[in-house]
Amino acid sequence: MYPWLSAPFLQLQALVRSGQLGHALLLKGGEGMGKGELAKELSRALLCQHTDVAPCEHCHACRLHAAGSHPDLHVIGGEERSIGIDAIRGLGQVLAESARLGHGKVAVIIGAERMTEAAANALLKTLEEPAGEATLVLTSSRPERLLPTIRSRCQQWLLPLPAPAMVLDWLAGEGLAGSQAALNLNQGSPLHTRDYLARGEDRQRQQLLEQFVALAGQPGPGIAALQSALLERPARLHWLHLLLQDALQLALEVQAPLRLDDAEPLSRRLSRLGPAALDTTLAALVELRHTLQPAAGRPLNAGLQLGLWLGRWTRPAVAYHQTTHSGDGFAG
Ligand SMILES: [Zn+2]
Repeated sequence: MYPWLSAPFLQLQALVRSGQLGHALLLKGGEGMGKGELAKELSRALLCQHTDVAPCEHCHACRLHAAGSHPDLHVIGGEERSIGIDAIRGLGQVLAESARLGHGKVAVIIGAERMTEAAANALLKTLEEPAGEATLVLTSSRPERLLPTIRSRCQQWLLPLPAPAMVLDWLAGEGLAGSQAALNLNQGSPLHTRDYLARGEDRQRQQLLEQFVALAGQPGPGIAALQSALLERPARLHWLHLLLQDALQLALEVQAPLRLDDAEPLSRRLSRLGPAALDTTLAALVELRHTLQPAAGRPLNAGLQLGLWLGRWTRPAVAYHQTTHSGDGFAG
């Protein structure tokens, strides 16, 4: 189990032992936190035959659970885009039968917000009927998308974001060098940060930010490479966005932690452009990101729009010669 799940699991385990866990639990929390794993671990504790030490890992139930073949555990909602009514109806039927091992039944619905409307209504019926010996565990990173009537019938439990230090330690153990900046870029999610680092995106980010800063006010051959890297994945504009925000923050001398703390030399250089130029560039970037959003349909002229924005950025008069207050020029 992931280290940040240990403390929450102990708390849930205490609820199970004291009989305070309701028949339906909604595990809420951000994406990439391992809520599904926590739900499965909880199901192991619920089904274990040694309630005083559950999960004991030795009893028949725990061994079946470990092998993924416990007959009284039903998990739905893996990788599917949506959870349909058939899956929920099947779950209701299974829960209506008596437990094979005589120690209760557990149903887990991972990513419950993906239920279709019909599926959600079917689940509501299951929740309204006396649940008997069954426990239903729902996980969701978008609980606001669930029917209010489903939420209100569940005991709600919020899985907190883990402390950055714990995540960075865990990443180091995985052989990955993380940073606060990498965590910020992934909304503090440990699993998303791990995947991001494993894909080598942190190195790409550093490289892209350097290219961007080098091009400020001076067009160069790097512009084509930068443009194609951004066109390939417009989400990378987010990196530039945060860098520009940090630079603006420094230019305004606002005392607050930087979003990309590991790129401070770059944001400090950009801060010499002055607040007005940075603000203009940021506003144009917000506009650009809006037009490049996948939801808006990829515009035919995405390359043109990006090219125009970069063109303004590389224009020698871009502003820093005029607005710089340091007087030592930008290249230093
Ligand atoms: Zn056991």
